[in-house]
Amino acid sequence: MKRISEILSEAQGARPLFSFEFFPPKNPAGEEQLFRTVETLRDLKPDYISVTYGAGGATRDRTVEWVRRIQDDFGLVAMAHYTSIGARPAEVLAILDDLASAGIRNIMALRGDMPKDDPNYAPPADGFRYGSELISFIRRNRPEFCLGGGCYPEVHPEAASAEADLASLKVKEEAGVDFLVTQLFFDNQKFFDFERRARALGVTRPIVPGIMPIANYKQITRITAMSGCTIPVELSQALEACGDDQARVLAVSRDYSVRQCRELLARGVPGIHFYTLNQSQLTQEILREIRRS
Ligand code: FAD
Repeated sequence: MKRISEILSEAQGARPLFSFEFFPPKNPAGEEQLFRTVETLRDLKPDYISVTYGAGGATRDRTVEWVRRIQDDFGLVAMAHYTSIGARPAEVLAILDDLASAGIRNIMALRGDMPKDDPNYAPPADGFRYGSELISFIRRNRPEFCLGGGCYPEVHPEAASAEADLASLKVKEEAGVDFLVTQLFFDNQKFFDFERRARALGVTRPIVPGIMPIANYKQITRITAMSGCTIPVELSQALEACGDDQARVLAVSRDYSVRQCRELLARGVPGIHFYTLNQSQLTQEILREIRRS
């Protein structure tokens, strides 16, 4: 299977990449739904599909299995997320072996969130403090993998400052990350400012915006509160005005995402990564609409 870095460099400047993110389902009904979702979205010819990794390794086997299925059963390029929080080097080497034997070549390499129930958490002495330490470990031990990393246009919630967060991105690049995908954001100006400052600091890797279409307003307010991302007043007012009218929520959300993606693409971003939350309908409509323009 292709490495995403190869797809990015082949497409460079000529066309944007489109990718979808899923989480591994917990039960047979969720599996059935995800199977149908991937089948539907396959028609849109995504450049790749990524599958998240549950905090603390809760979904380890399911993540690997779903990435393998997406590659083998659907013929699509896929990427496995992996978070190293709490892991020791031998465990990371073991999962890299699992991924390699499943034919997986792309990893979104992350530190992961701190455990919520342990405010004084410290990684094992030979563990990984930051995403960049995981990235340099994989690069050193298994250079054949293509590595993605996370970045934060609205600053990672734990960062000491915006400057410190950007400096850590430069360390991530030096550690060997191939490309970066942003945390979700709704305000493009925040992305443009972040990208400009990252470039000024010498970050050269492709930075792909991560976009989450809003299918459920309550759910999105929870997600944004956790991730530190803001919802512009214009959007929150429009969504609040919809009340319980779910069809209107979807219409407002679709129009907003289409405008957001169009502006990003007009400014030359290398691609759009859709956080789908395993729902295909809205993402499908948005992608069809932006490809039409
Ligand atoms: P890091 O880059 O390690 O940054 C974490 C904090 O440490 C930041 O505040 C940063 O400023 C600081 N820092 C970094 N390096 C240094 C340094 N050298 N010195 C000092 N400070 C430093 N979570 C999941 O559980 N599963 C997933 O599948 C998942 N997928 C994601 C996909 C994307 C695209 C993104 C953006 C996030 C994803 N997350 C996922 C969430 C992610 O795990 C959390 O945001 C996590 O808190 C940070 O991981 P990271 O590797 O980006 O952190």
